[in-house]
Amino acid sequence: MSNISKIKKRLCPLCTKPINNNDLKYYSKPWKLVQCDCSFVYMPEVPIYERMKNEFSWERNFSEKNEISVKKRIRRFVKGVLKRDKLKDLLNKFCKDGEILDIGCGSGAKFNNISSNYVPYGIDISEESAKEANEVFKKRGGEAICAPSTEVLNRFGKNKFSGAIMRAYLEHEHDPFEVLKNLKYTLKKDAHAIIKVPNYNSLNRKVRGNKWCGFRFPDHVNQFTPKTLLTMVSNANYEVVKFNFFDYLPTSDNMWMVIKPKV
Ligand SMILES: [Zn+2]
Repeated sequence: MSNISKIKKRLCPLCTKPINNNDLKYYSKPWKLVQCDCSFVYMPEVPIYERMKNEFSWERNFSEKNEISVKKRIRRFVKGVLKRDKLKDLLNKFCKDGEILDIGCGSGAKFNNISSNYVPYGIDISEESAKEANEVFKKRGGEAICAPSTEVLNRFGKNKFSGAIMRAYLEHEHDPFEVLKNLKYTLKKDAHAIIKVPNYNSLNRKVRGNKWCGFRFPDHVNQFTPKTLLTMVSNANYEVVKFNFFDYLPTSDNMWMVIKPKV
């Protein structure tokens, strides 16, 4: 990380206040987390997007899995199956058939077991992932684009999507508020968006500290709590449709939320 000219400083993504000095004890040099006066936890300095593409692309970090033990892999696999089911259930329950936008789509694999009544579209910052997803999505009538979400959301046109997926995405996004705000343009009036992010309030974070799985420097640039996630979606003018205690259990590392644009 010698070239610091490729680092971008940011304001608090929730309240836009400038960086303060409330450094937290969680870091991986040179990356750190701060807690704003509004309580939002974020990385005030992040790698710029070009750098993300080349050096920190998500799939590259995932390729480190060769070093992970068999036990952990089995646990991840089981967890993965449960996660996919939850996404599928929420989609079926809240999103009408039609076009679905997956922001931070990765390789597109999560659509493998999802009904063919949904036509998948995706955005991903990683060239490799977006290319892979595009191959999968094209076969189902959709497409995947490699770009920062803030730049392409309006390219899809007004009132296009029956639903949006932001699974393991908002914690990566430099401008999560902008994305949420702009997403409404391309969503249908009765569309729903499904969010899954690590829950900073999880017990595991308190127990494991810096080793908590929700910390991934410098990829996870935002850390949401149930309260800050609620504030952000409500500021972006969404109504919360589903977010009950079971969606943000302190014993889970993640939380789920379903929202829809306010009319
Ligand atoms: Zn703030």
